Amino acid sequence: MTDCLFCKVYKKEIDAEIVYEDGNVIGFKDINPQAKTHLLFIHKTHSENINQMVRISSSQLNQVFSGIEKYTNENGIEDNGFRLVTNVGASAGQSVFHTHIHLLSGERLGRFGS
Ligand code: AMP
Ligand code: ZN
Repeated sequence: MTDCLFCKVYKKEIDAEIVYEDGNVIGFKDINPQAKTHLLFIHKTHSENINQMVRISSSQLNQVFSGIEKYTNENGIEDNGFRLVTNVGASAGQSVFHTHIHLLSGERLGRFGS
């Protein structure tokens, strides 16, 4: 999708600190980190949110989570512990409408809530 911020990230049309990439998925640093490690994992196929992604193709979900497994396992994040979050809709806090999984790690995380 031409006007989508995160489509531009995976096409390298805007700068991002990419930490993981395979044929289908990229992981990059969040520009406004909410934890010591705050990454975003996306599929290279555009979808608006995780429900839409599953409806298009649940294998995309599999590919995103396989990327997360590989990255966290190989970089000590799995040992350290991490949290995954995805927002669906503006009222849940979604501001970029290309499906993305937040990965938070690197410190003791507080409980989540409203
Ligand atoms: P959400 O609010 O769940 O849609 O998450 C969007 C996230 O994207 C926020 O945490 C932003 O800080 C992050 N973000 C926005 N623009 C960029 C960018 N150009 N590069 C990296 N992260 C970004
Ligand atoms: Zn997109």
